[in-house]
Amino acid sequence: MRAVVASATDIGHVREGNEDSYLVMAPLFAVADGMGGHRGGEVASSLAVDTLERLFARGEGELVEQIREANRVVFERSTLDRAVAGMGTTLTAALLEDDRAHLAHVGDSRAYLFRDGELRLLTEDHTLVHRMVMEGELTEAEAETHPHRSILTRVIGVDADVEVDEIELDLRPGDRLLLCSDGLTGMLNDEDIARALAEQPDPQRAVDLLIRQANDAGGVDNITALLIDLHEGPPDPPAQPRSVPSGVAPIRAPGDLAERGRVTGTVGREGRAEPTSRSAEQEPSRPPRRPLANAQRFPWTRLARRAALTIAVLAVAFVGVRVYLDLQWYVGVSDGRVAVFRGIPAEVGGFELHHVVVETTIRAEDAQALALYRDLPDGITADDRAAADAIVERIRVDVAEAAGAFQDPAP
Ligand code: MN
Repeated sequence: MRAVVASATDIGHVREGNEDSYLVMAPLFAVADGMGGHRGGEVASSLAVDTLERLFARGEGELVEQIREANRVVFERSTLDRAVAGMGTTLTAALLEDDRAHLAHVGDSRAYLFRDGELRLLTEDHTLVHRMVMEGELTEAEAETHPHRSILTRVIGVDADVEVDEIELDLRPGDRLLLCSDGLTGMLNDEDIARALAEQPDPQRAVDLLIRQANDAGGVDNITALLIDLHEGPPDPPAQPRSVPSGVAPIRAPGDLAERGRVTGTVGREGRAEPTSRSAEQEPSRPPRRPLANAQRFPWTRLARRAALTIAVLAVAFVGVRVYLDLQWYVGVSDGRVAVFRGIPAEVGGFELHHVVVETTIRAEDAQALALYRDLPDGITADDRAAADAIVERIRVDVAEAAGAFQDPAP
């Protein structure tokens, strides 16, 4: 069977950012709805989707395993980077294989099947209100307007492991498979969605209509819809798992994925606070004794002695800071390129506390397009030159893989 896919995401009328992410990488499709303070939600959903994409491209594991690995990656990042602590995301994915769809699902984004004019919900919402409905404590109608209807009982990225629902489905020509975030289903009920899908045979127009209607109904949340129309005919060639370019790092084990989160996570914690405390520690170790001894031979005033002492302390502190800075490494951006720096990514009183050691040919914007390296201009700290070079190689591989992914034919 042949799949024709249309997708759209919209910020809505109320939110200040779009925390939804989606993936169209035939035959794999996914929708993720992130949550968490500051940029946490955005990071969680894009990190989950990027990880799924990367593992699928490499042909590593089954869909459910890929999603559980995405969970680990988001969880690691959340525990190591205070800026995004506690973030999480939903993830609803569909993998088409011959005339079957394998669905994997966590959270309250949804998958629907529209067949013969009827809309059927395929996924179960992992929400508190759904559980209460199942236990007879709430009616469906009460659940729809419940103030806590968005509280999730299962999320990607909040625990080290997550249970993933699996749904298997036989497909027929004429079927429409809809993946969407709760920004759509919170605004439109199933009848509204069915009507729009019946009304609009063109998939892109159908998706645009759904988003417009959700916005007209209030648009209180980010809205994402991904529609897969199935037709008679030969399937599109599947996206083949790509091999890692030779001469660079081998395929990474799951632990390596976690390691990258750790590297990113240390930025800011070590980047700025330490130099002052380290240089302060070094002051007492070399007390400027000579000026004091000389003071007995020359008739210096108290003021002059104090000035000499201050200069000596500053000199020692300056040397201490220089020694400290020379031991620090990080990867950042120089002239729009990924570069290895010595020092720390900061400046004091107009003096930059770093200098470029190597400027690579990797364009910074290509690296920053990937969720993991979005904060590259802030610097990714490294223990030594070798670690900095290793980070650069990882960035190089990831950027190359991402470039490969965009070249794949995506309908
Ligand atoms: Mn949402």
